[in-house]
Amino acid sequence: MSVRDRLAVAVLAALLPIEAAEARGAIAMGSDRIRVVYEAPKTAAYREIYDTMRRRRVLERVGAIIGLVRLPTRLTYRLKECAGEPNAWYAPEDRSVTLCYELVAGIQKVAPKTESPAGVSRHDALVGPVAQILMHESGHALFDLLRLPILGREEDAADQVASFALLQLGGKEARTVVNGSAYFFATTGKYEPVDKGSFADVHGFSWQRFYNLACLAYGSDKKRFGYIVSKGYLPKERAEGCGEEYDQVAFAFDTLIVPHLRVRPGRGERLRRAFEGAARGR
Ligand SMILES: [Zn+2]
Repeated sequence: MSVRDRLAVAVLAALLPIEAAEARGAIAMGSDRIRVVYEAPKTAAYREIYDTMRRRRVLERVGAIIGLVRLPTRLTYRLKECAGEPNAWYAPEDRSVTLCYELVAGIQKVAPKTESPAGVSRHDALVGPVAQILMHESGHALFDLLRLPILGREEDAADQVASFALLQLGGKEARTVVNGSAYFFATTGKYEPVDKGSFADVHGFSWQRFYNLACLAYGSDKKRFGYIVSKGYLPKERAEGCGEEYDQVAFAFDTLIVPHLRVRPGRGERLRRAFEGAARGR
């Protein structure tokens, strides 16, 4: 079994308690260390986001994945209004991940009405970036809470953890995240200035984040994500090494994060199905 297979099994197997919790009709937190807070917005236009995200238990579902990790302290996920700032962040002071209504509204604004010219649906363009952003901030949270060493830039590492974890969803969910996030990176990339400020920023350019995500997805499963290369979204020169890039992230994840999971690897395909069900909120 390769590192990649072992990790996939570990993550999927770890979701068994979620399946049981779902069956009881309970919220599938999987850990009493995770707390979610939906702050009601003052701005009327954000009311729909508040209702939808609560109904779909978006914070609970991301919390359920991160709750698989044995956390030393409590971690809070919060949706709130940020005085006009479209942002998301992890705050080590109070160990919380914050997602601003303004950022979700921005994602809604650039999403296609029905489908983008490249075939990305409105659903994927909304769900993908929200999942990616929450998992990216969760990556920062894990680096801090588990005191994980990071070689390289933390922002790149947080992207890799987010993409890698979400790719373990497999099937339709993984494709939603990849297509939706790629759409979002490509859209923001169009308006990004190429100047000193952007080069100096701690984050990579949106187009770099686009290609990193595309490469990791392709490297994870060259059949499922073959269209990324055949349709020309990822240059062949980069694509050639994406299997190795994926293995590198899998090795780091396996070494640094998997030992902290609360549940050990177990059975295969049935758990994958359970995981996919949990990710869809069933
Ligand atoms: Zn970040």
